[in-house]
Amino acid sequence: MRFQIFDDFLSLVFPKTCCLCQRSLFDFEDQLCKICISKLPITNYHLRPNNNDLVVKMMGLTRPHLVMAFLRFTKRGDSQKIMHQLKYRNRPAIGVELGRIYGNLLKQTGFQENWDQITPVPLHPLKKRRRGYNQSEQFALGLSEAMNIPVRLSLKRIQFTETQTRKSRMERIENVSNVFVLEENQILEDQRVLLVDDVMTTGATLSTCANVLLDAGPKLVDMVVIAAGKS
Ligand SMILES: [Zn+2]
Repeated sequence: MRFQIFDDFLSLVFPKTCCLCQRSLFDFEDQLCKICISKLPITNYHLRPNNNDLVVKMMGLTRPHLVMAFLRFTKRGDSQKIMHQLKYRNRPAIGVELGRIYGNLLKQTGFQENWDQITPVPLHPLKKRRRGYNQSEQFALGLSEAMNIPVRLSLKRIQFTETQTRKSRMERIENVSNVFVLEENQILEDQRVLLVDDVMTTGATLSTCANVLLDAGPKLVDMVVIAAGKS
């Protein structure tokens, strides 16, 4: 209660603004205004989750089942602006809100019964401490809230990788090949896992994580990212 009053006071002095258009938000809005939400570059991957370019990209790297992206990633587009705010501007709640919006869409499409757990791609603990949160985990929390499926942190990142952006596709795949392991005491047999990440470009990180999970014998590993674009 005390925190609520403090929050209300803060928002009176510093109104919350939409992370895309910077307009002040109404109290029923979270991180994005309703207008910006209606203009999000939403993909239709959920309509063809097992037969699309993301599935094709994953073939040869892992055993893809369903692969979907919420937003279309375009340079200098709204999705890039949102990802920038989420990753570098200390706005973890954006990830939760995007997860909630996408989770509701997936629920309406009947996906709620498809998975037993949602597992985010982990950050290295040092990087998570520096940023204060893992953006993929925030997205997972929103998906979890909307679809009522638990989040399980089944993966651990054991190596700190340098930035991937200047590397070729093959270099990226090699660069992440020994980076992830299963967390201790994870039982994945017969589980249907939804693996989630923020952005998918080459698919190197996502497929490496999927392979670590698949080695533990789950029924399936599906993949969902906030945004996907051309590599
Ligand atoms: Zn807006």
